[in-house]
Amino acid sequence: MGIRELFLRISGRIARYDASHNFTCDLCRREVFENERLCNVCRDELPKIELFCPFCGRRVREAGVCLECKKQPLRIDKARSVSCHEGGAAALVLRFKRGEKYLVYTLAEELTPLLEREFADCDALTFVPMTKRAERARGYNQSRLLAEELSRRTGKALLDVAEKRKETKAQKTLGRAAREENLKGAFHLVHRKEVRGRRILIVDDTMTTGATAGELAALFSRAGADRVGLLTFTSVEDRTLHPKSNHTRRNL
Ligand SMILES: [Zn+2]
Ligand SMILES: [Zn+2]
Repeated sequence: MGIRELFLRISGRIARYDASHNFTCDLCRREVFENERLCNVCRDELPKIELFCPFCGRRVREAGVCLECKKQPLRIDKARSVSCHEGGAAALVLRFKRGEKYLVYTLAEELTPLLEREFADCDALTFVPMTKRAERARGYNQSRLLAEELSRRTGKALLDVAEKRKETKAQKTLGRAAREENLKGAFHLVHRKEVRGRRILIVDDTMTTGATAGELAALFSRAGADRVGLLTFTSVEDRTLHPKSNHTRRNL
């Protein structure tokens, strides 16, 4: 066993121990009150989105529609996220996807007030399906865990109506047009009737370009859904507006 693997194994065990005792912050491990998931410091430091694009919900510097949405509107009626995909928020998402399932409670706690504020009139929650093979490899579908927990907290119905049958290339490496092409025909609706006339909210951990949720939303809309929204814990900030990485590279 390599050092890294050993470290991951031990830190995973500590995280599970902490989760079962629930007295430490999920980010910094400082002591917190019972039932608290994050300490005040870590919670204040989450890069929360205050000013956002009315369509995609990404952080914007000035009020109005973001450049991404001006170039190519999302195929979703309205998307919102709690936080930018940076710092502690990005770390929580990464760990949640890499085995620390109990973080679903931390994320759901932050998502619930936003859901109640922005999507009060939605009547059903759903998730982004994974192929059976991918789900077996990870052991769970993180988007489904989130939707289930939010359904439990809000009393809204949970829809399990779509399947992913085609494995797609890692979206990370692709541009937006390539992502949409990659996703064509990936999802299938297995219970069309449950979708008709409903105001559906897709729940996921993070939004990058919105192409995955957009493909699913298009499927729901074709089957007669009244409206389709997207709620994620984080969203990747519009790079065209803030080319931060170019700056750093130039300064090196
Ligand atoms: Zn903390
Ligand atoms: Zn936008």
